[in-house]
Amino acid sequence: MAASTRKRYLLIGNGASGTYAAETIRKTDTEGEITLLTNEPYPLYNRVALPPFLRDEAKREKVFLRTPEQHAQKGIKLLVDTPITVLNTEARVATGADGQEFPYDRLLIATGGRPNPLPAPGATPDVQGIYNFQYWDDATAIRERINTARHAVVVGGSYIAYELAEAYRHHGLAVTWLIRGPRFLRRVLDEDGGALVDDIARAVGVDIIYGGEVAEVHSREGQVCGVTTTTGQHLSCDTIGVGLGVKMNVDFLEGTPITVRNGIVTNEYLETNVPDVFAAGDVAEFFDVSIGLHNQMGTWNNSVSHGRISGANMLGERKFYNDVPMYSTGLFDSRIRVMGLTPENVPDLESWEHLDAPNRNYQRLFFKDGRLVGGCLIGDVRMQTRIIQMIQTRQVIPEPDRENLLAA
Ligand SMILES: Cc1cc2nc3c(=O)[nH]c(=O)nc-3n(C[C@H](O)[C@H](O)[C@H](O)COP(=O)(O)OP(=O)(O)OC[C@H]3O[C@@H](n4cnc5c(N)ncnc54)[C@H](O)[C@@H]3O)c2cc1C
Repeated sequence: MAASTRKRYLLIGNGASGTYAAETIRKTDTEGEITLLTNEPYPLYNRVALPPFLRDEAKREKVFLRTPEQHAQKGIKLLVDTPITVLNTEARVATGADGQEFPYDRLLIATGGRPNPLPAPGATPDVQGIYNFQYWDDATAIRERINTARHAVVVGGSYIAYELAEAYRHHGLAVTWLIRGPRFLRRVLDEDGGALVDDIARAVGVDIIYGGEVAEVHSREGQVCGVTTTTGQHLSCDTIGVGLGVKMNVDFLEGTPITVRNGIVTNEYLETNVPDVFAAGDVAEFFDVSIGLHNQMGTWNNSVSHGRISGANMLGERKFYNDVPMYSTGLFDSRIRVMGLTPENVPDLESWEHLDAPNRNYQRLFFKDGRLVGGCLIGDVRMQTRIIQMIQTRQVIPEPDRENLLAA
């Protein structure tokens, strides 16, 4: 009897990357066995829609993007509550926490990151009211707490902390925002940009303390009731929102020959150094052809593209990522767009900035080797399409013309 040519595709992680990869594979390989695993209890939902959910601007139906039935109709086997704890790339088998084995011919690791907990004395798991903000379960718990909370402390200097501050303010809570650095997005914005965000936040009633962290969390009868900061202030609060970055979910790769640095290292085709093992999305430290360097991102559109590309390459195609990622969100009653590369990904980029303080508009452009590679806009974001087009053309812009692109 001829050996079966039916391929077994295993995808660990059912976020945007894993799910889009599975669907891309199915479009071409109608026979293959596709198994999509997650340690969460849900099919794909949109993390970008979690902040609107907190503000009551998106209902559950808008947040969830797939149902188990849709996966079943496509012949994609979705296994929820299935954490993978061991990988053996020689035997080509992944093993779940319950010992179940998943053999594969092609493997995608699309496990993203998990949020760092608040590293302060007193912030123990038995104290109620302290939240990270990454999962659907976090969102529902935070939303419920908002119903009874009056004063929130938010910790962190990046997008997740902002989203929490915004949600709490939206519901009328008093908000104190602790930013360890000198400003919000300290590498993306310069001092002027940071001052503008400070202005925008204070105008809606958010109090910000820079250069401070939580030194200790205080609780009463198992409920959080305040924090002491490293700057010596005591703040009463009944909830704490934590946005202190993520740790990549790569623990199960220990002992495998897969190269891991900040993320799982891949080439431009999202292949790891181990044959038939791919990585995609937030967890992938991929070779970015647009800069000729390895790069790692944390945006939804990047994860969707990575999913489609890795799916295609698992089928034997040779596609690579060449999009311009964009992080697009509100900024209290303003808005922010961060496109392409910034000093978050590549240090030492040349930058030009322009602040229009009366109109609360800010622009910052990043160049590498004379080419526009990234930008940040606050307020008036109409320039975003032009910036993206210019990044894509990869044209060298003579030095005298670089500053002229601002406010043009
Ligand atoms: C609140 C919030 C707001 C955001 N807002 C924006 C925005 O406005 N714009 C933007 O561009 N991006 C935004 N992002 C970022 C964006 O959502 C992510 O970049 C994207 O969802 C990452 O997708 P992914 O597929 O790489 O990983 P993930 O979505 O993280 O999916 C990975 C999945 O794998 C699971 N997993 C991990 N380890 C294992 C294991 N060992 N076994 C089985 N399963 C495992 C995880 O639990 C998870 O379900 C936001 C993120 C959050 C949390």
